[in-house]
Amino acid sequence: MQGRTWLFSCAMRLFLRCFRLGWRRGRSKLLKRAGELWSYGKLCAKSLFYNSLTNSDVIIDSLFEPIYWLVDHVTRWFGVAFVFLVIVLTSSIVLIVYICLLPLILDTYSPAWIIWHVCYGHWNLLMIVFHYYKAAKTSPGCPPQMKTDTPSVSICKKCIAPKPPRTHHCSICNRCILKMDHHCPWLNNCVGHFNHRYFFSFCLFMTMGCLYCSISSRDMFIDAYNAVETYYQTPPPPFTFKERVFHKCIIYLWVLCSSVALALGGLTLWHAMLISRGETSIERHINRKEKHRLQKGKVFQNIFHYGCMNNWKVFFGVETKSHWLTRVLLPSAHPPYGDGLTWTHSPTATRRTLLAV
Ligand SMILES: [Zn+2]
Ligand SMILES: [Zn+2]
Repeated sequence: MQGRTWLFSCAMRLFLRCFRLGWRRGRSKLLKRAGELWSYGKLCAKSLFYNSLTNSDVIIDSLFEPIYWLVDHVTRWFGVAFVFLVIVLTSSIVLIVYICLLPLILDTYSPAWIIWHVCYGHWNLLMIVFHYYKAAKTSPGCPPQMKTDTPSVSICKKCIAPKPPRTHHCSICNRCILKMDHHCPWLNNCVGHFNHRYFFSFCLFMTMGCLYCSISSRDMFIDAYNAVETYYQTPPPPFTFKERVFHKCIIYLWVLCSSVALALGGLTLWHAMLISRGETSIERHINRKEKHRLQKGKVFQNIFHYGCMNNWKVFFGVETKSHWLTRVLLPSAHPPYGDGLTWTHSPTATRRTLLAV
């Protein structure tokens, strides 16, 4: 028992001596060791989360991911409501024209004016319905899922797949879209390579239809407006219920058509300018940035700009003169030029310019 106690006291004395010796001699060593352990721990933590593609943009994107998710889902649901709204509003205008305006035109106008209104009105309505249906129902086009030899300009970070030129990822559709222009909530569809023409034609014919309605009903609107103002006089004028409904329908028609013609007319002009330059809405933004970046000494050239008239011909798929009538002014379901995966560069683009990615 005494032997064990002696051994224990010896061991304790040795430990304390070593500890004191170590403390005196290696205080700096201990601090150095702690520093090494801290660096090793930091390296370990970084190695667990390291990604060569990580930068401040990725971190900000990740932080905003829940908000993007919310906006995308809300837009998806709004898309259904917006399509319903377009159908309801357009149908209401068509009904007012058929019920209120057409009988008046048939009763009061000369045969030549009747033929003009009936022919133009029905042609315009047909073009609106056809292009809206095709724009909403036609898939804008996606890159193939299978591995192909298709040339790509970058990798989509969301799809982890190669992106052909002019392709962009739509976070609302959650897929890459060929020659993407924008996601249109009024169509509840993306506007891309295969439905871009339908979208533009819809905008154009809808603007023309609204202008036609607001110009044709202008005099009736002034009469109806003056009549409504007299409703509140004493004694009120003896208008029947049918006449009061007629006045309000004409005011609704004129106000709605004029507002849509103004807003959609601006959008149509903007897209017409983009088509003339051989750009999509997304490329307009990218090309402007590139132009600004290459200001010093270098000239930026859009390689998809084939000249103003050629751009329109390519856009509408016009090959012969008769196509202006059959493919532009009449409903036509012909496919666009190319497959949307490969693009011919403009012959005038002599310099090696950057692709819009
Ligand atoms: Zn994608
Ligand atoms: Zn989309």
